[in-house]
Amino acid sequence: AELHSAHNVDLASRTPPYPKLLARLKEVRRVLGSSRQLTLAEKILYAHLESPEESLLSNTNNGRDIRGQANLKLKPDRVAMQDASAQMALLQFMSCGLGSTAVPASIHCDHMIVGEKGADTDLPQSIKGNKEVFDFLESAAKKYGIEFWPPGAGIIHQSVLENYSAPGLMMLGTDSHSPNAGGLGAIVIGVGGADAVDALVDAPWELKAPKILGVKLTGKLSGWTSPKDVILHLAGQLTVRGGTGYIIEYFGPGVNTLSCTGMATMCNMGAEVGATTSLFPFSPAHIPYLQATHRGPIAQQASDIANLPMEQNLLRPDPEAAYDKVIEINLSELEPHINGPFTPDLSTPLSKFKSLVEEMDWPRTFGAGLIGSCTNSSYQDMTRSEEIVKQASAAGLKPKADFFITPGSEQIRATLDRDDTLSTFTKAGGTVLANACGPCIGQWTRTDGVKKGEANAILTSYNRNFPGRNDGNRATMNFLASPELITAMSYSGATTFNPMTDSIDTPSGTPFKFSPPKGSDLPSAGFATGNPDFLPTPGVPDPSVSVIVDPQSTRLALLDPFPAFPSTELEGLRVLYKVKGQCTTDTISAAGPWLKYKGHLPNISENTLIGAVNAATDEVNVAYDVDGSTSSIPELAKRWRDQGIEWLVVAEHNYGEGSAREHAALQPRYLGGRVIISKSFARIHETNLKKQGIVPLTFADEADYDLFDACDEVHTRGLLDVLRSGGKGSVELVVKKKDGSEKVVQTRHTLSHDQCGFVLAGSALNLLALKGRK
Ligand code: SF4
Repeated sequence: AELHSAHNVDLASRTPPYPKLLARLKEVRRVLGSSRQLTLAEKILYAHLESPEESLLSNTNNGRDIRGQANLKLKPDRVAMQDASAQMALLQFMSCGLGSTAVPASIHCDHMIVGEKGADTDLPQSIKGNKEVFDFLESAAKKYGIEFWPPGAGIIHQSVLENYSAPGLMMLGTDSHSPNAGGLGAIVIGVGGADAVDALVDAPWELKAPKILGVKLTGKLSGWTSPKDVILHLAGQLTVRGGTGYIIEYFGPGVNTLSCTGMATMCNMGAEVGATTSLFPFSPAHIPYLQATHRGPIAQQASDIANLPMEQNLLRPDPEAAYDKVIEINLSELEPHINGPFTPDLSTPLSKFKSLVEEMDWPRTFGAGLIGSCTNSSYQDMTRSEEIVKQASAAGLKPKADFFITPGSEQIRATLDRDDTLSTFTKAGGTVLANACGPCIGQWTRTDGVKKGEANAILTSYNRNFPGRNDGNRATMNFLASPELITAMSYSGATTFNPMTDSIDTPSGTPFKFSPPKGSDLPSAGFATGNPDFLPTPGVPDPSVSVIVDPQSTRLALLDPFPAFPSTELEGLRVLYKVKGQCTTDTISAAGPWLKYKGHLPNISENTLIGAVNAATDEVNVAYDVDGSTSSIPELAKRWRDQGIEWLVVAEHNYGEGSAREHAALQPRYLGGRVIISKSFARIHETNLKKQGIVPLTFADEADYDLFDACDEVHTRGLLDVLRSGGKGSVELVVKKKDGSEKVVQTRHTLSHDQCGFVLAGSALNLLALKGRK
């Protein structure tokens, strides 16, 4: 009983394993020497190493150059998955044959729920439309002991912050905004499903040690400026690639002035600058937040650790810790920002926005203001917005733009309902949507008459604003701002309106000017639990449950293990396609309408490489068979596979850049792909290929790219030795041309000992399953 709080929360599984982490930190200190100063991110990451000695000393100049060099083998404490990406993660987990997950995990049904008329109609409709996927996720969750948050319970990142994140925790989330949880002092990294499976089966998860970008905060926010504005401003400074390869670690006296949820907003949008993750040190605001979310004992343990002498302190950076780069932001001087359109790093201070709108000829009016989502639906955000609505309502005003509110979770929705915040919004004409992603992920059917292709503006407090993201209309300009600013601007309906300086005419003709918003960080009466139907199922495995996958389903299909590597070299491979130019994970596995097949490998494989340019003809997705006949790339791949012919792809630089999308490696493998040879690979995709048993090779001499043509026959030479020796030696490709001549191409590989094991077994999962059986 002690392990459960008054709210029946399983605190044991939600408490980071502090004694183990403190012991590991001690070991890290021993390995690196006690004088070595560590950042907070380093402390938490390295305390999660499987073996500090192995990860920190090899390839790092004896521990001196860890960042950017060391290959960290990490043991995360927990995994969270959203409904779209959980499908393939679970299908892969199931093929390992284990009875339960090795670490606590949760599934959150949020991405497949529309936002249109309001929660009451949208939620049942979405459940109906996605029933088989939700049933699959729920049955798998029950069988393997994963906490299942049903549709309507909330958005993954809000639920994680309210329930699972805690100072010092390390967690993987199968969604790019998982770093939201860093607001509560955790390291949480967004990954693909195959990476999540590593943690679920207790295999170490590998990460190249990130560099650390320190953001020093001084001063204090006031008036209209909010935490959202800090990250909007930082995105402008860093650009969408500026955080790549870095963890953003906030520090400085300004940290202690921020609310816990405000810090989460800032960490959430670290994804927009490409950062591996973002995090905050232990802060006084963490204590009341943990207490209010029924985790008082965790607050106590964390604050005890945060007060330990620095040598043992896991939750604060060492005083002399060095950052690879430092950016300073004075919160007292910061003004509200608006970012966009079309990219989150186009950042404009509010005072300059009107003139930029005029200069760029962007729409002067906007059709909808949308607040909330995983990024900005905290009690603080919503009560500050509520206060703006109350000011306007008292002056007799109604919003001129449509006004939508997305609560991030049932807990926050029920609390805002109890405290009359939601009724303030709805009385003013606002529409409260389901506790789900909805318009943030394109699940928004607009009813305001805007046609596809018609340029128009919307304002959202979300995090992303790529073309077409919200309403499928690539001409919709989504400007990102804080919820309180959007709320105020919705009353004028003008993109040129600045509530800090401008007035609106009331019905009586007198001008009305907003006062700066006020809100509360946390509800004085505590959080309400809300609808009990939205509480998660407990994380206790039940082997008697059968996982529901209809064999006739077009959306879900169980995975068959890929065949192991033969006991010979690869013979008779054929060049399926020689790709010209850029080949991203989107080129290899397109998104959009294909997303609904994420749990059905045969069906989603129909999109394999359909964006690839044919190097011989410049055609897109036109492949040539040996007899000269043409078909789409997936059609030819399938035909060859069914004839027992395995194949390879020849490509140029940075093959597989873009996302961690594992489908881009799974699909070629499913269709009979064995080797990809390119001028270079994107790092994450190269790893994903090896995990699925495909051998990525690069040309020793780039010019050899020119030696290949579609339908050439290829044999490997030396590959079997490389695999059996754990990565030693190199591979030659013997290329037989149509005219019977032969050429030999020298290649390079980056297969590690472990990765050779993946390829030999057929895939990383096969290897895990083999180990599990031993
Ligand atoms: Fe992703 Fe938007 Fe959902 Fe957040 S609300 S998890 S950003 S889709």
